[in-house]
Amino acid sequence: MRSTPLPASLLAPGASLERLATGAEWSEGPVWLPHTKRVRWSDIPNDRILEWDEATGELSVFRTRAEFPNGRALDLEGRVVQCSHGRRAIEREAADGPLVLTDRWEGGRYNSPNDVTVAPDGSLWFTDPPYGLHPSGREGRPGVQEYGGCFVFRWDPATREARPVITDLVHPNGIAFSPDGLRLYVSDTGFYGDRPDARHIQVYPVDGVRTGPGSYFAAPPVGASDGLTVDREGRVWTSAGDGVYVYEPDATLVGHLPVPERVSNVTFGGRNGDELFITASTSLYRIRTTTASPRR
Ligand code: MG
Repeated sequence: MRSTPLPASLLAPGASLERLATGAEWSEGPVWLPHTKRVRWSDIPNDRILEWDEATGELSVFRTRAEFPNGRALDLEGRVVQCSHGRRAIEREAADGPLVLTDRWEGGRYNSPNDVTVAPDGSLWFTDPPYGLHPSGREGRPGVQEYGGCFVFRWDPATREARPVITDLVHPNGIAFSPDGLRLYVSDTGFYGDRPDARHIQVYPVDGVRTGPGSYFAAPPVGASDGLTVDREGRVWTSAGDGVYVYEPDATLVGHLPVPERVSNVTFGGRNGDELFITASTSLYRIRTTTASPRR
């Protein structure tokens, strides 16, 4: 099936897909660090965190034996918050290493937090599928589910407590808010388990600390939506098997950007917030766009 390419109006003049770095095994969790002008991401099976430096183009290892981190984001103060499969936690980077913010809900420890986003009020919303518990230990520490589900949680930095906000997805994975914070997009990758029907993005209305009933938003034609992000006009940019798919806020498919490796996640960054960084299997890619991150 051939998909419509991304319209030229969404890409910077002369933009093409660039491979910035390679040598990972399975790349995930990209975030742009404005202070150092680097992209940080996870190489999950090798249990390490990598960085690409915009100024030099060099790849470096930020941390080894990192406890299998996955998705990450910047909080409202610009600090890196990330999901840890190994610690089954949401943690925040600090000068002397990661600090666990939350690793359990009243029913038990989390499964293996996968991706995290920050709400306008500073709360952290994260997904908790079981991938890091797999007996192979390839992406975490083998273990069992403790609270009996795969939920989306909201962690409140004021109370330091987490509460489930979404409980009706099979394996919630990518997560992002609309620019006004009134809609929450969450992808479901139950498709990779025994639920072929669960390979779509669900959208939920958000009322401060809770969500209303979710509804089907879209499903990319190939693979399943994993990590996703939203631009300042509210379009949804999602990973899928063979590239990146872009949807208008009304779910109209805008187009497809082919990527030569299986894509896991996307994020906007760069000095002007208009560069789309793409983690795909062994590599980090970039394409320059005419839109940008909503958080400027
Ligand atoms: Mg993910």
